[in-house]
Amino acid sequence: MKYIDEFQDPELARRLLDEIARTVTRPWAMMEVCGGQTHSIIRHGLDQLLPDTVELIHGPGCPVCVTPLAVIDKALEIASLPDVVFCSFGDMLRVPGSDRDLFRVKGDGGDVRVVYSPLDALRIAQRTPDKQVVFFGVGFETTAPAIAMTVHQAKRLGVRNLSLLVSHVRVPPAIEAVMRSPDCRVQAFLAAGHVCSVMGTSEYPALADTYRVPIVVTGFEPLDILEGIRRAVRQLERGEHHVENAYPRAVSAQGNPVALRVLREVFTTTDRTWRGIGTIPDSGWRLSDAYRDYDAEHRFDITGPAAAEPAVCRSGEVLQGLIKPHECAAFGIICTPRTPLGATMVSSEGACAAYYLYRRLSPPHTEEKASVD
Ligand code: SF4
Repeated sequence: MKYIDEFQDPELARRLLDEIARTVTRPWAMMEVCGGQTHSIIRHGLDQLLPDTVELIHGPGCPVCVTPLAVIDKALEIASLPDVVFCSFGDMLRVPGSDRDLFRVKGDGGDVRVVYSPLDALRIAQRTPDKQVVFFGVGFETTAPAIAMTVHQAKRLGVRNLSLLVSHVRVPPAIEAVMRSPDCRVQAFLAAGHVCSVMGTSEYPALADTYRVPIVVTGFEPLDILEGIRRAVRQLERGEHHVENAYPRAVSAQGNPVALRVLREVFTTTDRTWRGIGTIPDSGWRLSDAYRDYDAEHRFDITGPAAAEPAVCRSGEVLQGLIKPHECAAFGIICTPRTPLGATMVSSEGACAAYYLYRRLSPPHTEEKASVD
């Protein structure tokens, strides 16, 4: 398949691995920001094929994982209201709130619907004018444009019974928060290619300069990721710290101007709390004042119950790359994809789920390096 098979070629992977091994002279730790990259790395065993001196740290780039418990609880409260149709992407339905999830609300009679596009929610609102239709807007810069366009369309068409519960987050402030952490071990970043395909790369040079850290825009197939690592290692070994684009087939410096235009019209940046991490200044989007009428938090006057994470869950440390999932005592024992205690085990992009799915059940020191053959 074009753009898939050609980026999974074992021979080319071997050559990239050899070049990385020839280049590296000392230990380096780099963070892949995106949960999609984490899954690709674990699925293909790329971390086990790298030299021991190159460590991959799994970052906070899974939107489901970082959506705070308080927001999940607000979603549950709104979805439980009569005359509300609550629409969401499917991966949010099993994320545990304080005492239940959206599946439970649906089982208890709530009108909770899985949609594949926010425009589906707009269509539902048009067909059921006697209901309040709420869309759960969760995600990074990748999903935000389609959601922004949906609200833009709703306003243009005069659809008044649609609103959004917004919990959008942005990658660059998260990178900054990781670098400012006193426990930070990250020496380079593999930036998320799909985020940059929307936003471009202009937000990254200042971060690379300020924190003297290489940032390589990287794709998702095995060869994309190995090429990102190769470039990051090369910069680290040379003592360089700049932004490189290793995903040019999808990313341009200026990003997607149409998407950026609608984002700037509909959203404005705001401080946002990240589950397990805390509040990161300017790290999210909320609806701009021009679209305030479409904000579900204003429309429904929801406060949400006081919410506390399960004490045993260490997802905050996982999301900051401070521990690997199998270092959590609950991993695979009382926390599994069927009985998740934290969002990093629920989400299809979560690091805990990736480790469980691909049977990384052992602590790092017992793992053996694999062969590419
Ligand atoms: S394994 Fe479960 S309990 Fe442990 S950090 Fe991951 S989600 Fe939380």
